[in-house]
Amino acid sequence: MRHAPPLKTVFGQLAIRGSALLKIAEIREISVPLEAKISNALVSFVGHDVSLVAVISDVIRAGKPVAGLAFNSIGRFAQSGILRERLIPRLISADPEKLLDDDGLFDCDKIQRFALRNEKPGGHGDRASAVAALELAFWDLNAKLANKPAYAMIARHFGITPLLRVPVYAAGGYYYSHDSLAALRDELSRYIDWGFDAFKIKIGGASLSQDMARIEASIEICGDGGRLAVDANGRFAYAQARAYAKEIQPLALRWFEEMGDPLDFDLNRKIIGFYPGPVATGENLFSSQDVKNLLNFGGMRPGYDIFQMDAGLSYGLTEYAAMVAMLEDHGFDRKFMYPHGGHLINLHIVAGLNLGGCEAYPSVFQPFGGYSAECVIDNGFITLPDRPGFGLDAKAELQPFIERLLA
Ligand code: MG
Repeated sequence: MRHAPPLKTVFGQLAIRGSALLKIAEIREISVPLEAKISNALVSFVGHDVSLVAVISDVIRAGKPVAGLAFNSIGRFAQSGILRERLIPRLISADPEKLLDDDGLFDCDKIQRFALRNEKPGGHGDRASAVAALELAFWDLNAKLANKPAYAMIARHFGITPLLRVPVYAAGGYYYSHDSLAALRDELSRYIDWGFDAFKIKIGGASLSQDMARIEASIEICGDGGRLAVDANGRFAYAQARAYAKEIQPLALRWFEEMGDPLDFDLNRKIIGFYPGPVATGENLFSSQDVKNLLNFGGMRPGYDIFQMDAGLSYGLTEYAAMVAMLEDHGFDRKFMYPHGGHLINLHIVAGLNLGGCEAYPSVFQPFGGYSAECVIDNGFITLPDRPGFGLDAKAELQPFIERLLA
């Protein structure tokens, strides 16, 4: 095996380690339970779990191997079987040189393609989030090897000027077992105290009249409908989506999210045909081809409607960036992209790709949801941590699981 050429400079700094070829020493995965006794219109999150992945390199610093960490977003379960039985063995058996880029770091496009070797196209389900956990761990590893925050690596890779602080909104208003309008008002009031100025609540898990009472109670706290989005989580058939759209129309809400089945582009287009406010969708589209179908058949309006695809659910950042490029080719603006998933990985992606903003799940979906103590939320913006990678290592709730994974 020949050696790779000497590593080039990364941001003017050199060199991970002379001329030696970077290699994967090991890839590990554990399933971590999600702490969430909450529900949306369709899903109870009790019993959900998430795959936490570590890609351990053969580079040793401070006596320890440098390891990249990531997970497969929230809400789609751990993907231990696909990762352990198919994806990880393929990467471990690959010729190391074929996984590297010109800088001598891991090439995440090649990583994705090797991981999917001998898999048929289409059917973008759980496999998409399994690949995502793996691919994103390589982004974290590359950033740590270059000693840079992930957002800076992402921005450099795609030739983008990164954001240094990111618009963030609080996604809450779930259906709790102790549900009441007073509890919802208290919840949103807390978010205001914590520095948020935009909010999202769930709909579709109660009757239309009950949900309207929830929306109106929320607007009392938010100040106006323009600060409040509502999310039906794909619950409605056309008649129900239409009834909700007509009822909420006068409230001029921030957006109406995932009103029907995520692949029912015809329903999306029909509602957009009369509903004057922005709609949001895309978190359950897991490939560029699915997004292309949304553009062709879903009626989405450039500069108005919101796209919520999530790298952690859709094969990782390589595929996600391809979606962003395709949207721009069709006249859409990346500022209308708000990825699903309020956590550190998506914060870095939003900043690195200069997207519209991030969501946050204050107090829920631990240990993955939310941000580390280094991230400051103020006036509707959140700051980014400076530490190398996505900064998952510094998130207190995740630390016990990372220690277990790397032990
Ligand atoms: Mg949603």
